Amino acid sequence: MLRFFVLVLIPSFVSLLAISSSDYPPGFVLKNPYLWPVKGHDSITGAFGEFRTGHFHMGQDFSTGGKIGIPILAVAKGKVTRVQRRWTSIGYALFLQHDDGMTSRYGHLHKFAPKVVKQILKSKQARRFKDRTDFDIALPEPVEVDAGETIAFSGDTGVGPPHLHFELFKDNIYYNPMHFGLGYNAAEPIVFNTLRITPQTPRTFINGRNETVEIPFYETSGNRFELSESPTLFIQGKVGIQIAIHQKSNNNRLGIFTLDMLIGENVLQGFQLSKILKEHTRKNVLLYDSSVSKPNGNPFSYYLHTRDGNDLLGMRSNGREQGILDSEQMKMGEPKEVTIRATGMGGQMSLASFYVLKDQGDYSHIVTKEWKYNVYYDRYTTFKSKDTKVELFFPVNAVYSKAFFEIEAQEQIKINTQGLNQLSSVYKIGPDFKDFNLGYDLYVKVPKTKDINSADLYEVLADGNVKKINGSSFSSWGQFFKVRLRKTGLFVVLSDQTPPNIYLHELMNKTVYPREDFALYLKAVDVGSGIMPDGFDITVDGIPGKAEFFPKDGRLEIFEPESLYEPGKHTVLASVRDFAGNWSSTVRYDYEIQAPPAMEEKKKPIPETTAVETTKEKKTKKEAKEIKTKSSSPKVQKVAKPITIAPKAKDKKSTSR
Ligand SMILES: [Zn+2]
Repeated sequence: MLRFFVLVLIPSFVSLLAISSSDYPPGFVLKNPYLWPVKGHDSITGAFGEFRTGHFHMGQDFSTGGKIGIPILAVAKGKVTRVQRRWTSIGYALFLQHDDGMTSRYGHLHKFAPKVVKQILKSKQARRFKDRTDFDIALPEPVEVDAGETIAFSGDTGVGPPHLHFELFKDNIYYNPMHFGLGYNAAEPIVFNTLRITPQTPRTFINGRNETVEIPFYETSGNRFELSESPTLFIQGKVGIQIAIHQKSNNNRLGIFTLDMLIGENVLQGFQLSKILKEHTRKNVLLYDSSVSKPNGNPFSYYLHTRDGNDLLGMRSNGREQGILDSEQMKMGEPKEVTIRATGMGGQMSLASFYVLKDQGDYSHIVTKEWKYNVYYDRYTTFKSKDTKVELFFPVNAVYSKAFFEIEAQEQIKINTQGLNQLSSVYKIGPDFKDFNLGYDLYVKVPKTKDINSADLYEVLADGNVKKINGSSFSSWGQFFKVRLRKTGLFVVLSDQTPPNIYLHELMNKTVYPREDFALYLKAVDVGSGIMPDGFDITVDGIPGKAEFFPKDGRLEIFEPESLYEPGKHTVLASVRDFAGNWSSTVRYDYEIQAPPAMEEKKKPIPETTAVETTKEKKTKKEAKEIKTKSSSPKVQKVAKPITIAPKAKDKKSTSR
């Protein structure tokens, strides 16, 4: 029986996975498959078109084995034309324009290849590159590279752990890299997780209830799945079908490539993720249920019916409400078999099936809740909290489709306000909702107080901790904070009067360092508003310095003046400020860079012939010599203690590590 079924499926299987010309830009011909962009690593950790919070995954993620510094290779011949630094998203990124018309972008890089850096330094924005502030640089002259040539090195800049984020695009359309020879044949089978079936009207009943029903799937035999409960669902009214599904890849969950819902041979609705328009980047909520989907794929929950406003490329049908199952179109006593067919990387395919049956029950006695909406995508709306201190403004296109929101002061909520003063009530904007398009403006009025200069809007997290919201502004004439939000949750105005702390980084555990690969690190942390990038006061031997701050681990790398890498003794003085304007105390660090070996040989006789010598110099030279001969012994490498100069009495904390 099973064998027969598999044989029947083979023709449609083949046609399904054949690459068609519509998977490429018009007129495009792939002459040679693209080369793998990560040297020595061969797996992928994220597929094209996956769910991310607020957007589609517009590229494919390649594993770098969790390592920084792995060579990143050009997938095809071309010209490097542009580089970026986007510290809160893609980190360092590079654009490569190929002779075939495609452009590839490589993100989260640690470094660019030397020949790319050479061109960056010739550009008008070279200063931004040197200063390590965000940039977008068109190279004065494109850098020609061959297929397989090293263009950069892997890193963890921007968001996420070390990996390569890779995109392919042309004329504002992003393409699935798997069609260009970059698919992952070692990906494991596709796993159906859960069926989610939702009422589409207030008078729809699923198994006699006006509620969303979730039923797990289980695998019956190779790549075939059935419901773990009764395989038949009784339906009255209109229902939408959602599938939580993933493809296994080592320890990762990949999104899938195609998903189709069939009754008999007819495809009711489905999609194929071969290409996504750039302007559709944020429309992921039309394909994924954002109330349950998670960026790590646990789960990715896909809609199999058309939501209002769905004009994504790759939908099987663009009809309105396509894929919604309506009991009006079913016959009494005739169950319909619904088959869900999914394909993914490496030609993998899995199938699931269940039955729907028209329910003839009388549910007129059941009282269901009326569905209320107060925000619609095609009009603007404003409303206020009861105490009138908070106002929400929803512009046209604030949300996809329609929604209902409430705002309420939550007096009983406990928040961790250690080092912070609360200047407003905690307001809850709910219910939980993620299908924002443009989002809404939140206005919060605050009383007149001198704390206002260090105040800002904060989000209260589930554990009671708070996180400053970026991008807010304060109006002094209206005494209110304003910010554009794309999330619901708990919000409060707090003032931060606690200074940040600055320490010696744990990597700086010596006093003497070889010149090669020396990097100067400190560490900064702040309770409340957070360390302000560029909010530094740094000197190295009295010369003003520059540093790059890594919010993920609090690392602060001092990279200017260049003289900090030169042989000899150095003294660093550094303090940082937070967003509220509080300065930390000053940390002092003394270190020494060893002279290159050849230089040292020449210097050696000098102490013997020089009569006058300070004890300080003597010690240094002795130390340098000892390290040269016994560099593997940790004994001679003293741990430097940070000396803290406290400008204010209450800054004492900053000496503790
Ligand atoms: Zn990515």
